[in-house]
Amino acid sequence: MKRDLAGIGLTSQRTRARMIERLREEGIRDEAVLKAMAAVPRHVFVEEALAHRAYEDTALPLGFQQTISQPYIVARMIELLRSGRELGKTLEIGAGCGYQAAVLAQLARDVYAIERIAQLLDRARANLRHLRLPNIRLKHADGNLGLAQAAPFDTIIVAAAASHVPPALLEQLALGGRLLLPLGGAEQSLCLIERSYRGYSETRLDAVRFVPLVAGVE
Ligand code: SAH
Repeated sequence: MKRDLAGIGLTSQRTRARMIERLREEGIRDEAVLKAMAAVPRHVFVEEALAHRAYEDTALPLGFQQTISQPYIVARMIELLRSGRELGKTLEIGAGCGYQAAVLAQLARDVYAIERIAQLLDRARANLRHLRLPNIRLKHADGNLGLAQAAPFDTIIVAAAASHVPPALLEQLALGGRLLLPLGGAEQSLCLIERSYRGYSETRLDAVRFVPLVAGVE
């Protein structure tokens, strides 16, 4: 039994190292992001039957018609959000099983992660408990409304595609802050919004495919 467990640990370390090499090949350059990705065991966040595929560069089903994001997308989005700077106080919309929140927690001062499906949030809580990351707070709520009681945020990252930018997220962005979200329906692209004293600026980036941002909680 002991030997089996050690075996799984070793396999996970080796496949995780391969995942990092692949992310480099795919163009992820931010060393801090690569280090954060290497620090989080993705197999903890996927269902046991899929654990052997945890370090493949694909999205995997989470149940509830949701998916755990592809490692490349998680790394790419956090790299864009950082733009070489500190993440500071971060809001994540669409925590799912908590994987991206765990990666963000390696880099951000505080992570507030919101999920609208209560059962998924329970799973995120259970997954994250093992990792002991005291700077993550999870909340069951509709991310369209942001999290007014903890605002303003230095960075906001949305893991579900919106048809338009939720106004609450713009309001809750700090001056000098950055908001990254997938925008669109059938065709989506990442949109980076930066807030300065002159107002908001918007940059359209990579084409992506996310589950939709849905209103309300369940
Ligand atoms: N961040 C996750 C990805 C989860 S997929 C990861 O690390 O893999 C996107 C998640 O967004 C789903 O769990 C979905 O339930 C959630 N979601 C969709 N609309 C939402 C909303 N309005 N508020 C909060 N979460 C939402």
